[in-house]
Amino acid sequence: MIYPIVKFGNPVLEKPAEPVTEFGEELKKLVADMFESMYAAKGVGLAAPQIGISKRLAVIDVSFKEDPGAPLVLANPEIIHAEGKHTQNEGCLSIPDFRENVTRPKKVTVRAQDINGKWFEKTGEDLLARAFLHETDHLNGKLYLSHLSALKRDLIKRKIRKLMKAGEW
Ligand SMILES: [Zn+2]
Repeated sequence: MIYPIVKFGNPVLEKPAEPVTEFGEELKKLVADMFESMYAAKGVGLAAPQIGISKRLAVIDVSFKEDPGAPLVLANPEIIHAEGKHTQNEGCLSIPDFRENVTRPKKVTVRAQDINGKWFEKTGEDLLARAFLHETDHLNGKLYLSHLSALKRDLIKRKIRKLMKAGEW
């Protein structure tokens, strides 16, 4: 099932999500739906709050279906190590049609539970590191806008408010 993506302005995106505690069939179905919704929206990462579900759960596939080993499920993820700096253009499915350069750590280790509840650690660089950080931010109620200068952030928010008023958001 493809869920519609929740857009900026919906409070679910700006509150910390609840931990995942049940690792059963329901979670498996949700994860499958999240991958389907992410691919349909042409994204490489999706956090549960982006489909209106306030759970600490995210899916990532930085290969976008190219590498069958790439899809990752992160339940209750935490960034346990970060190093270096890397600036890259970044967007968010919940803030469509906007992109900005965001500086984030270059290399990151995440600790998370998989779909069966088993804890694992994974280190990623560049785009994968960025995805770990971006999705973990979502679960803490944080958007990439918070990493921009106040000036840039306000400009984007103003443009979004205009779109909202025009009924185009
Ligand atoms: Zn996002």
